[in-house]
Amino acid sequence: MSALEELDRAYGAACADPAFWSEFDLLCRDYAGRPTPLYHARGLSARAGGASLLLKREDLLHTGAHKINNALGQGLLARRMGKERIVAETGAGQHGVAVATVCALLKVKCVIYMGDEDVRRQSSNVFRMKLLGAEVCPVSSGSRTLKDAVNESIRDWVTNVRHTHLLLGSAVGPHPYPDMVANFQSVIGRETRDEMLARYGRLPDCVVACVGGGSNAIGMFRPFVEHLSVRLIGVEAAGKGLDGSSHAASLVRGRPGVLHGTKSYVLQDEAGQIASTFSIAPGLDYPGVGPEHAHYRDSGRATYVAVTDGQALEGFKLLCETEGIIPALEPSHAVYHAVHVAAELPREALMVINLSGRGDKDLGIVSEALEAGR
Ligand SMILES: *Cc1c(COP(=O)(O)O)cnc(C)c1O
Repeated sequence: MSALEELDRAYGAACADPAFWSEFDLLCRDYAGRPTPLYHARGLSARAGGASLLLKREDLLHTGAHKINNALGQGLLARRMGKERIVAETGAGQHGVAVATVCALLKVKCVIYMGDEDVRRQSSNVFRMKLLGAEVCPVSSGSRTLKDAVNESIRDWVTNVRHTHLLLGSAVGPHPYPDMVANFQSVIGRETRDEMLARYGRLPDCVVACVGGGSNAIGMFRPFVEHLSVRLIGVEAAGKGLDGSSHAASLVRGRPGVLHGTKSYVLQDEAGQIASTFSIAPGLDYPGVGPEHAHYRDSGRATYVAVTDGQALEGFKLLCETEGIIPALEPSHAVYHAVHVAAELPREALMVINLSGRGDKDLGIVSEALEAGR
């Protein structure tokens, strides 16, 4: 608790300090590549045959996804707190690479925990992290994947808390992490809101984002929550189907529980043991979800649906063919669902899809899946 209280105080002070935000804004602009474009996808919209679809291009950021926003914010906070060492978890390695990048930039020691199963499957990201000067620690407990890497990084943090900051990668974990990560990611929704007002003179009718831990979605949703005319739709991973256990749809299929210090919807068995999860998209493969999404699910402010691996692959191919953009598999879930919602809406309607990352990292998975489907 004392580590969390220290972090909460430092985060509160940083929030109130304009110098902190001007440094964050400057790095977002010059280092990460913000603001990202809001692109009117005419080809995709024509294929959907209804609403106009706009893509928030987080895939164009340095390191290829929205994760850099949060890594920069927490990296600056850690430096402000005088921490000399940053630890983080990673699943497929996307968050690990973003953290290693920011640690190289800020000259802070970096330790990344990664399940040894993931170390084997994602060797090129392990190589990237090492090039950036990070130490990668394989984790051999439990299912040897993301959930176990989170456990180890929290253990390391509480053991070495005096000099160490834990840089969690999504809007999960104990307070203040869900609020802090959502805050750093809300730059996505603020830019989208401002661009919509400047260009169309109004807010979108609907925004759609994929939900793993929930950080890109909450970053997009937050600035629109008070505007009740804007429909908010989160898309989870239905994996091989919701009926079996090979999915990661915590909001659609989970029950209230506590995981990694957060009470939220959790995929669990009868005894409350954390269930194993599956998704073709590595970034969606987590058995919990940020608590703010659980709240919007219960209040009805946002709607959450789930899309299967096969449907996500359709979304992936559709964006490649209609727009010349190769998306990551995570936002391919959102693309698939958005196209179906757009088809039901009139032509004047405006929908935004958060394109959270680019697809280079997924080419191996996609080529295997397309091969197997032949
Ligand atoms: C990690 C990742 C996600 C899922 O994480 P959230 O916290 O739910 O945003 C989504 N898209 C991409 C491209 C990712 O790398």
